[in-house]
Amino acid sequence: MNLSAVGDDIERVIVTEEDLQAKIKELAARVDSDYRDRDLLLVGVLKGAVMAMADLARALQRNVEMDWMAVSSYGSGTKSSGVVRILKDLDRDITGREVLIVEDIVDSGLTLSWLKSNLESRGAKSVEILAILRKSDAAKVDVPVKYVGFDIPPDFVVGYGLDYNEKYRNLPFVGVLAKHMYS
Ligand code: IMP
Ligand code: MG
Repeated sequence: MNLSAVGDDIERVIVTEEDLQAKIKELAARVDSDYRDRDLLLVGVLKGAVMAMADLARALQRNVEMDWMAVSSYGSGTKSSGVVRILKDLDRDITGREVLIVEDIVDSGLTLSWLKSNLESRGAKSVEILAILRKSDAAKVDVPVKYVGFDIPPDFVVGYGLDYNEKYRNLPFVGVLAKHMYS
């Protein structure tokens, strides 16, 4: 879906499709080199990380396994609650595994810091985080994100997996949702 298909719902594009795809290749090259000769399990956080996971996995020049978790975060609003609930758990045991969590965005960091310790407590050998976007102003929790795509301003954004009320996930770029859409 392109910009003209969403009319004036998007105030401005902040990361273009070209920038996203170039960044994914760059991050994939770093992951390839960091995890050389180590097995790797990508854990995607549903549903926001679907686009990033699909692009990252295909850009990697190695075998990976993919698993998925779904956790509750924002509900239908635009503010993080800090309450994390597992809606869908991993299919397999991760004891001894090298895990890379793939996320769409770090905002308060509450979701990821909870998820990282949750996966560590299951006996994973390592748990690192890759996030396509980071709202650096908003970090309430100091969560170490090893791979970051873009630092963005603290606006509510949609696209490339990110939604507002389940819409706009299929935009190939990241844009700021126009205020008139939610206020
Ligand atoms: P956090 O716990 O505040 O870091 O945010 C967790 C989740 O909230 C992210 O994984 C996203 O799914 C969602 N989220 C945070 N910021 C945005 C945004 O600007 N647009 C859409 N979803 C967001
Ligand atoms: Mg998410």
